[in-house]
Amino acid sequence: MAILPIVTYDDDILREEAQPVTEDSEELQALVDDMFETMYNADGVGLAAPQVGKLLRVFVADVDPMIEQDERDIPKYGPLAMINPEIVETSAEELEMEEGCLSIPGVNAAVKRAARIKVRYLDRDFKEQELDLDGWPARVVQHEKDHLDGVLFLEHLSFFKQKLLSAKLNEIAKGQKETEYPLAPKTQLREKG
Ligand SMILES: [Zn+2]
Repeated sequence: MAILPIVTYDDDILREEAQPVTEDSEELQALVDDMFETMYNADGVGLAAPQVGKLLRVFVADVDPMIEQDERDIPKYGPLAMINPEIVETSAEELEMEEGCLSIPGVNAAVKRAARIKVRYLDRDFKEQELDLDGWPARVVQHEKDHLDGVLFLEHLSFFKQKLLSAKLNEIAKGQKETEYPLAPKTQLREKG
């Protein structure tokens, strides 16, 4: 297993649509292992493959640390790997909750999303699964699924809110933001496409 460097928000790869996974492979299993290790090392609750420079429809999540802080009675799921996930139902009710992103270190903002979702996906054994999610798990899955479509949480914010964050964002883009986890150098990723 290896800790992979994380791409920052200003890298073009995070604006691309990721490709469906067509078959199980050693490379895929190794990627999932590395993504879990990378996410835990960064104290994250979710990480999508494009964030480590791979344009594949895969993400990992482990929301249990957030559920432990939540007063409501929400089930725990442990580590989740979702391959080719589809959000097949969303509640009409929306909630505004504070989000962050490992690709946008030090930036948090309240984002409005569906309160509850149903997600269909392949687990890492390539078995089809379906989950009805509420609270933090629903939030994290929507955030990670967005990454697979080239969407960052910043795009859910008003222009005014984005403007308020611009100084912090510029700091990240210039490579001046210090993090406890490795960030990917941009030039290298641009070469990779
Ligand atoms: Zn993110």
